[in-house]
Amino acid sequence: MICFSYKLLFGTQPRFAHSCLPNTMQSLDYELTQDSSQLRLVTRACTTILKKEVITLDFSPTAFYPYLIRQRILRHVLCIENCVCARCVNPASIGDFSDHLKCSQCKDGLVSAEEPTIWSESVWSCNSCQEEFPYSFIKKVLIDCRRELESIDTSRGRASADELMNFIRRRSLTDLHRGHFLMLSAYNKVETCLRSISAGVRQPDPATVYSRDNIQDFQRLGEYGDVVDRHVRTVRSHVDIFRGKFCLLRLLLSY
Ligand SMILES: [Zn+2]
Ligand SMILES: [Zn+2]
Repeated sequence: MICFSYKLLFGTQPRFAHSCLPNTMQSLDYELTQDSSQLRLVTRACTTILKKEVITLDFSPTAFYPYLIRQRILRHVLCIENCVCARCVNPASIGDFSDHLKCSQCKDGLVSAEEPTIWSESVWSCNSCQEEFPYSFIKKVLIDCRRELESIDTSRGRASADELMNFIRRRSLTDLHRGHFLMLSAYNKVETCLRSISAGVRQPDPATVYSRDNIQDFQRLGEYGDVVDRHVRTVRSHVDIFRGKFCLLRLLLSY
């Protein structure tokens, strides 16, 4: 009979400081012996840590969540209100645009919270024309986009994927940054719609002639892979383990 025992590093865990861009990561390692299997919680450096540098760990299991949802969890669940990492203070500085809107005034700039950590009380402004927007306006745009996205029937295969891609193109011109979390959500739905259709040709063979529809499916899945890869690269730039499967997907789709 295999028995499991769990050992957690309660003694050393509190010695780490929290950061949303940590320099260590944790994983569970299995140790198999003849009659038992043990799990060990292992902390590894995921980038070079210099002497006297603070060793940090991401206390929240929400690394890939969009900015605002993550902030809510940090604040209300984990009681972390004063994280000063670049991702919290200025998400755009690390390329996190998961809550940036397109400016409805100049149609060119990006709108984001001037004080991201208190987003709902903050003024939101455009980085190009400097126009200011109250959070109530931002909320209205988000509700409108979300309602439209949720109203799309995802049970019609390619027809649903067409509608979702139309949503992505249209909203990326007028309302949402391409890296916005509603865009990621839309691409995720595209993948769901195409999953069963493209299952037979998931591993492309250069010797096979594919239909135009198949090639379009690959291109759309490739776009999805790029969007996800960009987001993962942003929030965990030095940890390739998370990127592995997305890179593999992109490689397969690049035929
Ligand atoms: Zn942070
Ligand atoms: Zn503007």
